[in-house]
Amino acid sequence: MKYDESNIFNKILKGEIPCDKVYEDEEVLCFKDINPKAPVHVLVIPKSKHISFVDFINNSNKDIVASFFQKVGRIAKKLNLIESGYRIITNHGLDANQEVPHFHIHILGKKKLGDL
Ligand code: 5GP
Repeated sequence: MKYDESNIFNKILKGEIPCDKVYEDEEVLCFKDINPKAPVHVLVIPKSKHISFVDFINNSNKDIVASFFQKVGRIAKKLNLIESGYRIITNHGLDANQEVPHFHIHILGKKKLGDL
């Protein structure tokens, strides 16, 4: 499957669509989900063009993968979620209902999230 340049997160990365930014550096962007499922619901995306988790981990250098997930952890800390707890989710493909074909991690917190 080829990366779809017209996906909404690529438009956010290109600055064509605004986002409520939480964190940005040269490798990642984190912004609030437009349809939050919890008081804290942010999305963390790499700036590299990867369709999903599988594409990202299989086609990225190990240091990039490690760095990305360390940043997810740091963002959760910055959002003050360590004490209260949080959930990270990534959807890959049809059965998971992946809506946007640019790899992203959801971080949810600040409410009782219940069972998976
Ligand atoms: P997925 O189902 O692909 O894992 O999740 C995609 C997420 O992106 C959904 O939670 C949805 O609310 C969010 N989303 C879709 N379009 C936009 C947008 O234009 N801006 C922001 N901030 N979030 C979006």
